[in-house]
Amino acid sequence: MTKKCITDFNLNNKKVIIRVDFNVPIKDGKISDDNRIRESLKTIRYAIDNNAKVILLSHLGRVKEESDLEKNNLAGVAIRLSELLFKPVKFISQTRGEEVETAINEMQPKDVILLQNTRYEDLEGEKESSNDPELGKYWASLGDIFINDAFGTSHRSHASNVGIASHLPNGIGFLVKKELDSMLPVMDNPESPFLIILGGSKVKDKIGLINNMINKADHILIGGGMAYTFLKAKGKNIGNSLLDDENKDYVNELLENYGDKLVLPVDTLTSITVDGKNEVKISDFKDIEPNDIGVDIGPKTIELFKKYIKDSKTVIWNGPMGIFEIDKFSNGTKEILNALVGNRTVIIGGGDTASAAINMGFKNDFTHISTGGGASLEMLSGNPLPGINIIDEK
Ligand code: AMP
Repeated sequence: MTKKCITDFNLNNKKVIIRVDFNVPIKDGKISDDNRIRESLKTIRYAIDNNAKVILLSHLGRVKEESDLEKNNLAGVAIRLSELLFKPVKFISQTRGEEVETAINEMQPKDVILLQNTRYEDLEGEKESSNDPELGKYWASLGDIFINDAFGTSHRSHASNVGIASHLPNGIGFLVKKELDSMLPVMDNPESPFLIILGGSKVKDKIGLINNMINKADHILIGGGMAYTFLKAKGKNIGNSLLDDENKDYVNELLENYGDKLVLPVDTLTSITVDGKNEVKISDFKDIEPNDIGVDIGPKTIELFKKYIKDSKTVIWNGPMGIFEIDKFSNGTKEILNALVGNRTVIIGGGDTASAAINMGFKNDFTHISTGGGASLEMLSGNPLPGINIIDEK
């Protein structure tokens, strides 16, 4: 089954609504990373080149109260997009109403309009996030064709994806197509030896992925904050490291049934705070003090994990090996990234692992770095993505 794509439509003179993911990080009013805007350019340019009238919709952050409005205003994104496209992008500071309708009625082919943050509609009654039927229908009434190119929100059923798609001929854009084409075949049919690398903070977030993939994986390497719950279950001393007590039973069961597949750290970096301001020690767990917090995998673990990586043909990675945001605790994540470069299929799940890979200079070294944190985790967990499911098949 293949989803309809933007290339399956005649876009000439059509009003094409594209749901993009412009949810960029903004610091002091400035876009600190425009990667998400760049990732959308291929689809937007294709629509322009094919004479469409391009209407863009995106969310930015969360809008729960009045004070969220200004900081999540998409105006600055329109300026950046216009620079990247080398053409004007008209920004409409509303999500609906006369100004929106007049601007769209006056559009010429190749014009680009960006409407205000779809989540402005969440301020009263969460209309966007609850997929309010009237809102989806209204947005659909503004266009002729709907294209979903926001992979990052595809695990949500919102008015700006599922809502609009229910009322218009629809397809996916190039970014979503790349996500599906890169991840699905690897998940379905990974070349062996197939390794999964997990890290990050919580065991809970990775349970779906583990359950969905463990039978296919040859080994699962476990690092990051989640590893300490496994280590504790194996009787190791973990000091004051992150512990996910709620999922203790799950971890015990996993160790019992799949113990031979799970590879745990044999040493760890510790510090007494997580801000990087205190001394860092290496510990093999025996000598760990009650106040010590595990902040990264240790050198012996890096070597152990590297051996598994060296032999692998396929790797899926989700979750950093340590608190990589702090330079002193980023070595494990960096070393694993280094080891992964080579002749193998490597899929990096989105979110923090993707930002680590990109910020540490590995943007072009892997088969695929997903643009969606939650969405890629849901997909790897085998869960349906409503924003993709609603799109018509070819
Ligand atoms: P996740 O979203 O579950 O992939 O988690 C990513 C977060 O896990 C990052 O913000 C890391 O700082 C955090 N993390 C990684 N290792 C540790 C650790 N040893 N202790 C606490 N947090 C960690």
